[in-house]
Amino acid sequence: MTPVQRILRGGIEVTVKKPNVVINYTKHMGGVDRADQLASTYCFLRKSLKWWCKLFFWGLGICSIDSYILYKITKQQRGEQPLNHLRYVKTLVQQLTGNFRQTRARASTSTSESENIRLNGKLHSILTGVRKDCKVCSQRNNPGKRHQTTYYCDTCPDKPGMHLGSCFIKYHTKQNYKD
Ligand SMILES: [Zn+2]
Ligand SMILES: [Zn+2]
Repeated sequence: MTPVQRILRGGIEVTVKKPNVVINYTKHMGGVDRADQLASTYCFLRKSLKWWCKLFFWGLGICSIDSYILYKITKQQRGEQPLNHLRYVKTLVQQLTGNFRQTRARASTSTSESENIRLNGKLHSILTGVRKDCKVCSQRNNPGKRHQTTYYCDTCPDKPGMHLGSCFIKYHTKQNYKD
């Protein structure tokens, strides 16, 4: 409790005791409101986020706001013009992400890796599925030489289509398997 002066109706001044929490609240609520306002301006919390994700991003958001407040104070102390909130957030995002790009899961493995699997001498399972060109005996650009099959190797990375028998053997034993 802290004693404070209060003027009653009629101009009589009295000393009353006020709880410190109330004093602190009145003193700092402007700042809380300002922070809430900044937080709501470029809010990136989405409904779809998991709760723990939300918590993390909320914390990150608070850090971003606090850093902007400190940045502004520093700039003002130096007599420099600070960036506005949006430009600041954009710059921050660029600096945090850098040149990072989400790499998409590639559809096919690299040539050398898929070749290692192709010629690994282990058991390869043949299955049937949709009609595909035979990887070995078919020449796509040569109309009369295009041969299709529903058999494919389920073990090789690209699930290539191939005939049973010699095509299968060639594909899995020869470096240059093309007919
Ligand atoms: Zn074939
Ligand atoms: Zn295979």
